[in-house]
Amino acid sequence: MFSLRFRRLFGAAALLLVVCALPAKAAFQIDVRPGYGVTGRKWLSDYNPALRGTDYDTPVYVMEGTEPGGRALLFAGTHSREIAGPLSATILLENARVTRGTLFVIPCLNAAGMSVPDSLGQVPHELVVQTRGGKRVLYYGDRRIPLKSGESDPPEFVHPTGYVHKDGAEWRNINRNYPGVAEGTPAQRVCFGVMELIRREKIGTNLDVHEATAPESVLDPRDGKTYPGGTLSYSLITHPKYIDTAIEMIFDLEDRGVNLKAEQSIPGFRGISHYEIGEGTGCVPFLSETPNPAQNDHAVGIDPLHDAKHPIGERVAIQLEIFREWLGSCEKITGAPVVIEGLPDKKQIEESGVGAFLR
Ligand SMILES: [Zn+2]
Repeated sequence: MFSLRFRRLFGAAALLLVVCALPAKAAFQIDVRPGYGVTGRKWLSDYNPALRGTDYDTPVYVMEGTEPGGRALLFAGTHSREIAGPLSATILLENARVTRGTLFVIPCLNAAGMSVPDSLGQVPHELVVQTRGGKRVLYYGDRRIPLKSGESDPPEFVHPTGYVHKDGAEWRNINRNYPGVAEGTPAQRVCFGVMELIRREKIGTNLDVHEATAPESVLDPRDGKTYPGGTLSYSLITHPKYIDTAIEMIFDLEDRGVNLKAEQSIPGFRGISHYEIGEGTGCVPFLSETPNPAQNDHAVGIDPLHDAKHPIGERVAIQLEIFREWLGSCEKITGAPVVIEGLPDKKQIEESGVGAFLR
């Protein structure tokens, strides 16, 4: 008979062995319930193995048509508080089907940022929406990849090209770290994964889905002062080489009741997706911005789902119309079409709400 002490020791050793043998814990994921149009799932770590088993890996969904065609990549959630992006990508994955070509979708690029509450501290981490199948949780995360315990931000962030970002915290901002470094910082690893996906999958065009500070000025009840709104929302941004294409897309969108402005990357401002993808690959890059009223540093008590001026339904409807226009332009942009069916349109979202298009 083993003594009680021996059995306890043996039990602890066995438990340790089991724990060590378990595969690495997967990173945080948002709730996506793929529909019939999703034909495969990969991980960003399939394109950058340095992400494997870390908090920064994230699923890449594949929607492959039965007929050959172009190849496009959509990613949302670079900044995890910009929730119209992940939500629109989720609606696409749950409802749409690609008939020609292949679409890759990353609904939450910044998994670690989504795993923590917004550092502005005004919006709860979990928001509840009523859907076809009951209640579902939408996550509202932070802008940047969170610091690990014991880490701190440098006074400034120097991009590998030498460009200096004055705010040192930007070393954790995915959209300041393109084209990335394979075994670099977490943000550099994520960016390298995206670039590698574009190269290996021969992506002809990509869309990086964002939200920006709403244009209206806000009154901060904490000091009684009024602060200006942002200027970036309602825009479609691209590399200067492709600005004419963005303008054509904006004219088409106007006919469908979506009014955006075309913007271009500032050459020399390094690390942004549209600039680095446009410079470093043949992929035609776009970035979309809808207004999130809760993003203003001085916005207090704003509900990012039910705001009177910028409800989530309106922002998602705009993003879905941008997806439709972008994919509809794919043949013109890249020489090969990506045809999608079942994407809800602006009118449907406005009439039924986003919950009607979530399982
Ligand atoms: Zn953003």
